[in-house]
Amino acid sequence: MVELLGKSKEELRAFCAVLGEPAYRGGQIYHALYAERKFDFARMTNLPAALRERVAKEARVTLPEVKQRFSSADGSVRYLFGLGGTEEKGINKEGTEKESTEDTEKNQKRSDRQRIPASVEAVFMPSEGRQTICISTQAGCAVDCHFCLTAQLGLIRNLTAGEIVAQVFVALEESGRNAGGGAKEKDAGLSDKAAGTQKPGKSGATQTPDPIQTNVVLMGQGEPLLNFEPVMAALRILLDAEGVGLSPKRVTLSTSGIVPGIERMSKEKVRPKLAISLNASNDEQRDALMPINKKYPLYALMEACKNYPLRPWEHLTFEYVMLGDLNDSPEDARRVVKLLAALKRVKVNLIPWNPGELPYRESSPERIEEFRRILNDKGVPAFVRYSRGRDVMAACGQLALLQINNSSVPVFRVPSRDLRVR
Ligand code: SF4
Repeated sequence: MVELLGKSKEELRAFCAVLGEPAYRGGQIYHALYAERKFDFARMTNLPAALRERVAKEARVTLPEVKQRFSSADGSVRYLFGLGGTEEKGINKEGTEKESTEDTEKNQKRSDRQRIPASVEAVFMPSEGRQTICISTQAGCAVDCHFCLTAQLGLIRNLTAGEIVAQVFVALEESGRNAGGGAKEKDAGLSDKAAGTQKPGKSGATQTPDPIQTNVVLMGQGEPLLNFEPVMAALRILLDAEGVGLSPKRVTLSTSGIVPGIERMSKEKVRPKLAISLNASNDEQRDALMPINKKYPLYALMEACKNYPLRPWEHLTFEYVMLGDLNDSPEDARRVVKLLAALKRVKVNLIPWNPGELPYRESSPERIEEFRRILNDKGVPAFVRYSRGRDVMAACGQLALLQINNSSVPVFRVPSRDLRVR
């Protein structure tokens, strides 16, 4: 059985050609899958009935199993998805092997060879007028940022393009249902060509859509640029006006600073916005928090950022997790200003640390405000971003970590490290 979810229009055309069907039927399947989000072949009414039956015998569309679902008091829903294993090989023939660090290269290659069952997380965050879906690109992660619980999983495996887009689809399907919508509402759901979902009125009748914007952020488990090809294949589907139809202004990829991946992404015709997980104001600090910095130190990272071709509407986002008494001093803020001085359009998101299992402290609100003020006064726009769903997501990776501690799923661990606060 061929898995169709995650396939491009060209791949679906080729699939139809192999079946002896006209290639344009592949374009119709593409439309049904991604623009209409019909995952049951019987519902793909743009195909002749005989072809629907034939395709159902040859192919499948697999959505992840929702293993756990946690609803936050603030309306966010955190999912733990179960992904099956497959026998397909070589999902990432180019991406990871070129971009991975020396430390992680071996694990990445093993991950490509073995498509084992895995769990990943995604979060759906609704708010007035918009909804944001945070998705994972790998199960676990080999990058080993010391403040991140996902790092403790090690790399389990890379996700396929289908497994990446499927997280968006399940969150949308579920939110459509939760909002009281039927199939019609769900079908209309995402398109940002539609950036809006239809809402039933009090009578239950469908009304004109409210302009609900859908944002997707690649900030869940994994380092997206170490799973380059499947991530880009998923993004091409999400950002294609004939596919899911999201605007590139509403999709953000966050990286720990994989310089070759940033350079490679800069050359992509279709690309999302870029966010850099900075979290330190100098190399010494960043080496201690994010060992990837030894491979791609700040001067190299800033150079890649300087050369990154921003579109007219675009800015680079830097994320800075505020760790009490570690990276949150006024001197740190001044160093961050200097670091970013050579870049054109930037903004900084200050993320208060979510207390959890790891040995870090929260920064005080006064300290965060002081940090923000210093950046703003020096002309660097800075915003404080509190994590949504704190009551159900103390930190990224926590759910999967809980699961994995109780399972026999093999994990490719990076060398063990000292977790003490430095
Ligand atoms: Fe991986 Fe991101 Fe966690 Fe770093 S912060 S270990 S890149 S998931």
